[in-house]
Amino acid sequence: MRQVHITTFGCQMNEKDSQTIARIMASYDYQVTEKVEQADLILVNTCSIRQKAEEKTYSLLGRLKQLKNSNPGLIIGVGGCVAQQEGKRLLERVPHLDLVFGTRLIHQLPDLIEKVRRERSRLSRTEMDPGEPYLNPLPAVPGFFQGVKASVTIMQGCNNYCAYCVVPLVRGPEESRPSQDILSEVKTLAANGVRETLLLGQNVNSFGQNRMGEISFALLLHRLKKIPGLERIRFTTSHPKDLSAELINCFGRIANLCEHIHLPVQSGSNRILRKMNRYYTRETYLEKIVQLREGCPGLAITSDVIVGFPGETDADFEETMDLIRTVQYDDLFSFKYSNRPKTPASNFPDPVPEEEKSRRLNELQAYQKKVTLSKHQAMEGTVQQVLVEGTSKKTTQDWMGRTRTNKIVNFPGPSDLLGKTVPVRIEKAYVHSLKGSLE
Ligand code: SF4
Repeated sequence: MRQVHITTFGCQMNEKDSQTIARIMASYDYQVTEKVEQADLILVNTCSIRQKAEEKTYSLLGRLKQLKNSNPGLIIGVGGCVAQQEGKRLLERVPHLDLVFGTRLIHQLPDLIEKVRRERSRLSRTEMDPGEPYLNPLPAVPGFFQGVKASVTIMQGCNNYCAYCVVPLVRGPEESRPSQDILSEVKTLAANGVRETLLLGQNVNSFGQNRMGEISFALLLHRLKKIPGLERIRFTTSHPKDLSAELINCFGRIANLCEHIHLPVQSGSNRILRKMNRYYTRETYLEKIVQLREGCPGLAITSDVIVGFPGETDADFEETMDLIRTVQYDDLFSFKYSNRPKTPASNFPDPVPEEEKSRRLNELQAYQKKVTLSKHQAMEGTVQQVLVEGTSKKTTQDWMGRTRTNKIVNFPGPSDLLGKTVPVRIEKAYVHSLKGSLE
C-alpha cells in the first residue's frame, strides 16, 4: 500500500475535509501515515483566515523541499483555502510543489494525483463549480467504528461577506446538503457507535435557505433528535443575525441538543459591527443572549472577538470589553485583526498599530481567563454527565471526556469507559479543563 501524510491547518471544516480526503485516498490504496518521511504522497490542507495561518503553510512547504530532493517520486499537493486563493501562483512560488487543488475538488483528488504521476506534470485546479457532489462526504461505512463523536458537514460556503473574511472568496457561495442525506449519514454513524455528532457549516443557522422546499435548521435538529443511539448533538458556527426564535427554542427542549452555543460577536461596538458588515447591533445580540439564557439557564456560551479592526478606537474597544463583562462568556477565541488580501477591510483606512492590538488583546484575554476559571470553579463539587472520548492528553492513565456544556474533564477510571456517559464529580478547576473522579 502507498502511504499518504496529511497535515491540516485551520478550522473544523478543514479537519473534516482532511478526514474525507483520507477516506477517498484509502479507497485508492493509500494508507495514512504519521511519518512524513515515509510518505509517497504529502497533502497539506491549508487555512488563510489569518496571515499567521497562511505563513505556516509556506514554512511547512519550505521544509518539505529536502524530502522532495531525496525522493523525486514523492508527490506534494496543497488544498484548502490558500490553494483556492493562490492557485497557480502557489506553483510558481514553490517549485517543488506538484499539485494545487481547490476547496470544492477533493472528490477529484485521486484523478488529479494520477494525472500528475502519469504525466509527470504540475497541476493547479481551483474551479468553484466542478459540477460534482462535493457536498457529499463519503457515506459512513456500516460496521466500521467511526469513533465516539463524528462531525457531519451540513452546508458549505458563505454568502455573508463580512468585511474581514476570506471564506466567501475561497469556499464559494452558501450551499446546503439535502436534509435526507444528512439524516441518513447520522443514522448510520449512530448505528455504528457514534454517540455525538457535530453539525458543521460556516453559518448553520441559515441551513436550507438556498434550497427550494428544504426544512429549517431548527426542524433538522428536531428530526435528528429521534435517531436511536444519538446521545448528543452540537453545531457550529452560528451567525447572530440568523439565530431565529425557532432555533433559540430548541435549547432546553431537544433532549440530545447539548447546552452550548458558539455565537461569534466579533465586536461590541455598533460602529465597528457596521464596518465589519455583520448586520446586527450589540443591542440585538445581547437580546438574543437573554432569550437563550431564559430558555435554557445552564447554557454555556462562547464567542469569537477580533481586536484592532481598522479604525477601532479606544472607545470602540471599551464597548467590546463592556459587552464581554455583560455576557460573562464561558470562553472566548480572540484574535488580533489580520489583513487578508482581496477582502473589503484590506482597503480600510486607520490601521491600528500592532502594539496597540497586542495591548487590547492582552487586556481582553486576561479578563476572560478570570471569568472562565471562576465559572469552572463554580462547578467544583457538582456531578457532571461526561461522555468519554479517549485518554487524557496529560496522562494516558486518565480518561478525557466532555460535559454537555463542552467542558473538558479528566478523571481516572476502569478500562472500559470509552464511548460511555458517566457521572463524574468535579474536584478541581483549571482554566482549560476540570479534574474529577467517578461518582
Ligand atoms: S459569516 Fe462572515 S466571518 Fe463567518 S464565514 Fe461568512 S463571511 Fe466569514
